[in-house]
Amino acid sequence: MKNVANKETLLVALGGNALLRQGEEGTIAEQFANLRLPMRQVARLSRRYRIIITHGNGPQVGNLLLQQESCAAVPKLPLEILVAQTQGQIGYMIESTLDSELAALGSGKRHLVSLISYVVVDASDPAFREPSKPVGPFYREEEAKGLPWPVRKTPKGYRRVVASPRPVTIVEKSEIRALIDMDFIVICCGGGGIPVIREGRAFHGVDAVIDKDLASARLAGEVGVEILVIATDVPGVALGYGSTGERFLDRLTVAAARRHLEQGEFPAGSMGPKVEAALQFMEGGGKRAVICGIDEIEAAAAGRAGTEVLLG
Ligand code: ADP
Ligand code: MG
Repeated sequence: MKNVANKETLLVALGGNALLRQGEEGTIAEQFANLRLPMRQVARLSRRYRIIITHGNGPQVGNLLLQQESCAAVPKLPLEILVAQTQGQIGYMIESTLDSELAALGSGKRHLVSLISYVVVDASDPAFREPSKPVGPFYREEEAKGLPWPVRKTPKGYRRVVASPRPVTIVEKSEIRALIDMDFIVICCGGGGIPVIREGRAFHGVDAVIDKDLASARLAGEVGVEILVIATDVPGVALGYGSTGERFLDRLTVAAARRHLEQGEFPAGSMGPKVEAALQFMEGGGKRAVICGIDEIEAAAAGRAGTEVLLG
């Protein structure tokens, strides 16, 4: 536990695509293989920083929903339970891969833990009146009509839509703080956290999905993080993304980020929440926020890759 007090804390938010990439079948072997390079980098970074890892779960929770649809023999599970399942499944994969990479590095024994995490949302969040986040399988129009949830037409077919309320607070923040103070590497807030509403001292799970980037920014503010690295499947933030004039940025000021967000450069549900999370983090006193490719976590933490979001 020596020198822990002097170590800065680094939060790495891994995109769901870190595990399950487009064009792959999505087998467990592929998911483990995709984790190796990011975890090798996190293992090296853990020598200098206290580490928190958060992760997405989009493709995994979509697959669990699809499995439920294909089985009439057992009762269907609510979304909050599926999110909890993905925290266990992905937490296990991250933890075991990171453990192997730490061993390969010859690091002394490090304590790792993955934490089932609740995130409080506000029952009066306007997002509940307007479910907007598509999840799970695609349906034909006739199938979609008989479903018990709100659905929306998307370019590839009808999909279930759920509310995506804003994260208010991370229920386990004190536990996470205590664990990183003891130099545990903590994996938490998977899939944005299990969304819960507070009723007195009790919590109730709700059918919703919290954005994992916004949950990560909230967590960073609540436990005291110096560096936030949001790792995804593009090298950073671009202007004119997907157009012939596309240009990836090394830096983006908070003021410019706000302007571009308003102009629609960073869409809701993908780059928008990443930029917003970086803004919130920096305005809350963070030291460095970078959005980068999954293979450049180490360089991004040092300010040598990705798009850094800067105050001023
Ligand atoms: P993750 O699983 O890492 O959260 P997302 O799919 O939610 O990944 O967000 C990353 C995606 O954002 C990229 O794959 C890219 O297609 C999309 N994107 C939209 N606008 C931009 C932009 N301006 N710059 C870079 N990527 C963008
Ligand atoms: Mg995302």
